[in-house]
Amino acid sequence: MIKFKYDDITKYFMKKCSYCGRSEEEVKILVYHFKGKENYVCAKCLPVMIHGE
Ligand SMILES: [Zn+2]
Repeated sequence: MIKFKYDDITKYFMKKCSYCGRSEEEVKILVYHFKGKENYVCAKCLPVMIHGE
């Protein structure tokens, strides 16, 4: 039986901002859905997403 360390599990399931790539360890991550897929955006990139680039 393979044992995972807690750190490995959190890294595996870690959500990352699809804009800047920062993880939920560094920034607040919000979930959004686009074209049937679940994506993540951090609080800092959310205004960029709303207003466009
Ligand atoms: Zn971001």
